Amino acid sequence: PDTLTIGELAKMMKRPASDLIKKLFAKGEMYTMNSEISYEKAEEIALEYDILCTREEKVDVIEELLREENENPEDMVSRPPVVVVMGHVDHGKTSLLDAIRKTSVTSREAGGITQHIGAYQVKAHDRLITFLDTPGHEAFTAMRMRGAEATDIAVLVVAADDGVMPQTIEAINHAKAANVEIIVAINKIDKPDANIDRVKQELMQYELVAEDWGGSTIICPISAKTHEGIDNLLDMILLTADVKELKANPNRNARGLVIEAQLDKGKGPVATILVQKGTLHVGDYVAAGACSGKVRAMLNDRGMRVKEAKPSTPVEIQGLNAVPNAGEIMVAMDTDKEAKDFAATFISEGKNKLIEETKAKLSLDDVFGQ
Ligand code: GDP
Ligand code: MG
Repeated sequence: PDTLTIGELAKMMKRPASDLIKKLFAKGEMYTMNSEISYEKAEEIALEYDILCTREEKVDVIEELLREENENPEDMVSRPPVVVVMGHVDHGKTSLLDAIRKTSVTSREAGGITQHIGAYQVKAHDRLITFLDTPGHEAFTAMRMRGAEATDIAVLVVAADDGVMPQTIEAINHAKAANVEIIVAINKIDKPDANIDRVKQELMQYELVAEDWGGSTIICPISAKTHEGIDNLLDMILLTADVKELKANPNRNARGLVIEAQLDKGKGPVATILVQKGTLHVGDYVAAGACSGKVRAMLNDRGMRVKEAKPSTPVEIQGLNAVPNAGEIMVAMDTDKEAKDFAATFISEGKNKLIEETKAKLSLDDVFGQ
């Protein structure tokens, strides 16, 4: 369903429905327990009405609404899978992300200068795959803390000459807790001491059993060095995406997540946003955590200016009034006021200070130029 009832909203807000109905009535809005409202209306109510006392409570409810928000099945359109690469240190995560980027069609396109925005898209069989390549995957962790599910598939890199190590196990646990599909990439198969079967054996302890061993885990032997098996890995990612039937509604206000953000001397605050639903446009009013603004310019993962970004697309946006935190939810709103109100809900004392600092820094940069 793309709606919820006042009763359900009250439950989320942990308040008696009668209190909520009375408050709304006082503002001239008539509802009953079973009145159906849109998720957007629910967010508005949660933000506006003084039923939730503390900021934390408001943030909790808003975040829950953003997560739960469902869409009408007819509006849903297929979207690219969002993939994160995880694994033990030195097993080849960075090398794999580089290898994929290099072998992809996208980076060979004219004008395709790859810039680092914490995520990129590649094309395989004319279909897009989005990879998050944030160092240390802080964004992934931050998103998980917020319960926001940014990724669809985790590629677990395990070195064939080293096997399952502590961070491999950690990654497995993370992915499982987040309900993310795991595809195993056994890397470094070019090495003389590579032992694929030993890795498969070790993985069985963690309920990751290869398909040819009677299980259901996709295990791809690869070499990030020689690029052997990379195409097959991309095929397996697309296959997994097909099974999951990943969809989103592109025709609505955008919702997304902050992948990374920083203060750029020339551009001001810049944030890489992974659009999850809707379409983000230049000129949209947005809020991300405690920050808000109007999207002044958008760059894609190749540093090219774009006017809009559809679901599963990473873009760098300019125009926020401060630097948001990785993992924060970004919303596009119809008006400047709504965006500011949304941001205000997320503002704590610390955040307020951050915004003031950013403003001060920006004006100094204006004075001294770059
Ligand atoms: P990360 O810590 O998981 O990001 O690992 P890196 O990508 O930095 O790789 C660690 C080391 O392993 C580097 O010296 C890479 O050159 C090397 N390496 C990565 N993939 C392969 C591979 O497929 N074959 C070989 N022989 N070396 C690899
Ligand atoms: Mg690395």
